[in-house]
Amino acid sequence: MQIECLKVRLYEVFTSIEGEGLLFGTKTLFVRLAGCPFKCFYCDTTGAIPMNSGQEYTLEEARKMIENSLEKNTYKVNFTGGDPLAQSEAVAEMAKFIQLKKIPTYLESSCYDWAKFVQVLPYIDFIKIEFKTPDSEFVDSKHYSKLLENELECLKLAVKSKKVTYIKVVVSAKTEVNPFKELLKKVFEIAQKSSLAGFIIQPSYGIAEPSLEQLLSFYDEVHAYYNEVRIVPQLHKFIGAP
Ligand code: SF4
Repeated sequence: MQIECLKVRLYEVFTSIEGEGLLFGTKTLFVRLAGCPFKCFYCDTTGAIPMNSGQEYTLEEARKMIENSLEKNTYKVNFTGGDPLAQSEAVAEMAKFIQLKKIPTYLESSCYDWAKFVQVLPYIDFIKIEFKTPDSEFVDSKHYSKLLENELECLKLAVKSKKVTYIKVVVSAKTEVNPFKELLKKVFEIAQKSSLAGFIIQPSYGIAEPSLEQLLSFYDEVHAYYNEVRIVPQLHKFIGAP
C-alpha cells in the first residue's frame, strides 16, 4: 500500500502530564491509537481496545491533528493505546513526522509482535516495554509463552538498537512471585544493567491493588539483578489527569 493511502484510527490526541515510568512529570502529547488485541483485567483504557473505536483519519489528517495539538514546551510525544503496534505502519509514519520536528518520540507497548516492533523501532527514541505476567489475563496460559517470546525478542532488538529502553511490569494482588521470577531470569539473560534505562514496577490502580508487602517482595526480586528498580504508581491519577 502506498504510504499516503494509509489510514489510521485514533482514539484521542491530548496534552497531559506523563504520570508513569521514567519520565513522569513531563509535559507530553499523547497520541492514543485505537485497537488492542488483548484485554488485561486491569486495563484503564478499555474504550480504546476495539479496533473500530475512535475515528479513522488519513495519514495526512492525522499528521495535521498532531501538529495542531502540539503545545509549546512539549517534552515528548507518546504513542500509546490500545496497543500502538496494532497499527505499526501508521505509527512509524507519524513518529517519523514528529522526529523531523526534533521532538522525542516514545512508544508504550506490550511488544506482542516483534515484526511490527521492527517497523516502528527506527523512529522511536524512548521505548517502554510493558512485560505481562500470566495473571494479567492478557492471554490464556496456552499463548503466554508465545507472547513472552515476542516481548523478549523486542527487548533484544531495542537493546541492540541502543535506544533508551526501559521495562515496566504492572503487578496486582494476583501476581505470583514465581512467574515473576521466571520473567526476570529471562529478561536479564538479554539485558545487562547498563543496557536498561530503568525497571519500573507499577501497582495496578483501583482493582486488585497489591499490598505494600507484595510490592516490596517484587522490588527485592528485581533488585537482585537491577538495583535501580523503582515502584512508581500512575501519578496522573492522583490529580485526575487523563
Ligand atoms: S495491553 Fe494495554 S491496552 Fe491492551 S488490554 Fe492490556 S492494558 Fe489494555
